[in-house]
Amino acid sequence: MGHQWVGAALVGMGRGHSGRAEHAARTGRHVMRAATRIEVLEVYCGTCRVRYDDRQALAPCTGAVAARIA
Ligand SMILES: [Zn+2]
Repeated sequence: MGHQWVGAALVGMGRGHSGRAEHAARTGRHVMRAATRIEVLEVYCGTCRVRYDDRQALAPCTGAVAARIA
């Protein structure tokens, strides 16, 4: 099975007392407008956590197997 790539990203929450920061801290969610550029820190598989640029990324996803063991 193939890896399910996700990107860990940085999203600005504003300076000082910010309603955006308050909401994100309370709910763990933030809605952005489409076409907003964000900084992606890292791309990895959401299932098995292998990094996109890791050699192991060439192997099939082991997430399902790891989940059964854990
Ligand atoms: Zn994977």
